[in-house]
Amino acid sequence: MGDPQGFLKIKRKESGYRPVEIRINDYSEVEQTLPDDARMSQASRCMECGVPFCHWACPVANVMPEWQDLLFRGKWRDAYEVLQETNNFPEFTGRVCPALCEASCVLSINDDAVTIRQNEVAVIEKAFEAGYVKARPPRRRTGKKAAVIGSGPAGLACADMLNRAGHTVTVYEREDSVGGYLRFGIPDFKLDKKIIDRRIEVLRKEGLVIRIGVSVGQDISAEELLKENDALCIAIGARKTRDLPIEGRDLRGVHFAMEYLAQQNRIVRGDPISDRDLIMALNKNVLVIGGGDTGSDCVGTANRQGAHRVMQIEIMPQPPKNRTAKEPWPLWPRLYKTSSSHEEGCERRWNIVTKKFIGENGSVKKVLAAQVEWKEESGKTVMAEIPGSEFEIDADLVLIAMGFEHVIHEGMVKALGISLDGRGNIAVDRDFMTSRKGVFAAGDAHRGASLVVWAIHEGRCAAEAIDRYLSED
Ligand SMILES: Cc1cc2nc3c(=O)[nH]c(=O)nc-3n(C[C@H](O)[C@H](O)[C@H](O)COP(=O)(O)OP(=O)(O)OC[C@H]3O[C@@H](n4cnc5c(N)ncnc54)[C@H](O)[C@@H]3O)c2cc1C
Repeated sequence: MGDPQGFLKIKRKESGYRPVEIRINDYSEVEQTLPDDARMSQASRCMECGVPFCHWACPVANVMPEWQDLLFRGKWRDAYEVLQETNNFPEFTGRVCPALCEASCVLSINDDAVTIRQNEVAVIEKAFEAGYVKARPPRRRTGKKAAVIGSGPAGLACADMLNRAGHTVTVYEREDSVGGYLRFGIPDFKLDKKIIDRRIEVLRKEGLVIRIGVSVGQDISAEELLKENDALCIAIGARKTRDLPIEGRDLRGVHFAMEYLAQQNRIVRGDPISDRDLIMALNKNVLVIGGGDTGSDCVGTANRQGAHRVMQIEIMPQPPKNRTAKEPWPLWPRLYKTSSSHEEGCERRWNIVTKKFIGENGSVKKVLAAQVEWKEESGKTVMAEIPGSEFEIDADLVLIAMGFEHVIHEGMVKALGISLDGRGNIAVDRDFMTSRKGVFAAGDAHRGASLVVWAIHEGRCAAEAIDRYLSED
């Protein structure tokens, strides 16, 4: 432990965001960085607890106390080496992870948690800058072949681990670029896409083959891939979006959040979008339906596009600002969050149900909504509309950000005939194998819509299991 009194002397210091009036004009990352000495002081706040709950809470089991100590001592390279042992892509999680670890930091019981996520991104950025991150191709090849379908964080983590183990791995991606929702989902102002390209370059140098623009189930069948390979990992995400099939859903100006966000990612990289397809918030009253992170990303994007007004509504009640007895430390609490996008301007309302989209000449103009209340009835929480509470919201662009149902069944999943779980995602056994021998699944496709860090964890677990399977073969 670097400084046994660090946590008593140093207060938590955030990297902070660029000023709203500046960042709102561009799509560059909003989060800033601290100078090295300040970052090292922040790491000194880690108490190196006997039972490190941060490590317990982290899906990839990062060993936080070890690399906080190394960081405090200025041993950036060693900190990087320890970090990369458990996390293939700290540059992604260091930017976008909600930091389950920090909610479980022992210091957070009566003080502010260690800035673990921000320390993580500082360590990995230093590692890239100083040239510590180098291609480390495997010394020998096993002669076994594996195919990974999907290049999101789950597919990439799985492919990276299998490649490191010496297997010959090909990733198949249906889009024209690698990264899944990291690329076409998460806005550039949270994750610059150069960060993905930089990692892909390393992975390719290590011998990973990535074939973009190949939709498995359409351009090539999974059966063919099975014949050509010794194992298959399905990491295609949970991409069936939850819809709102109410009156007026087919009006112009009502879109899924994902159409909107993915399109903006493409605009930022310079893709031309036709006037007919363009979804633009400029001068519009924008209504985002869904109070989660995807909704928040829509808010940030709409403000950058010059929206007249942005409102975000949620059917559930406003979460509490502090932990409740139902979610005691060290559990992850569902708390009221103000994201950088919310800071940029947005009216937020809770307990609102959307009843109808109202149009004029085929385009949405208003939304009919009502206030609801949630009550406990016979041990269940039930929703009831408050009589007479209906009201209209002006809206000429509506973005539906109500989450995802499950993996898409049509196409490859159906063709393979693999079993699904009760929620419609791909069922796997303890070894991440599906009901078909040699076919594995990882990430959102198996877990349901989740987090980048869980996708990386599942990719790693599936790779470990596939490696065992290939070794037995
Ligand atoms: C807008 C948005 C914001 C988010 N923000 C955050 C955040 O801030 N922090 C966080 O931790 N998580 C966030 N998430 C969640 C996170 O991005 C996902 O949990 C994660 O990307 C899941 O990884 P995955 O690899 O399982 O799937 P995905 O990222 O969905 O990748 C699946 C890949 O498979 C490809 N594919 C699908 N079908 C085929 C096929 N038949 N053939 C070939 N390729 C195919 C897809 O094109 C895609 O590239 C966000 C999600 C969204 C949508």
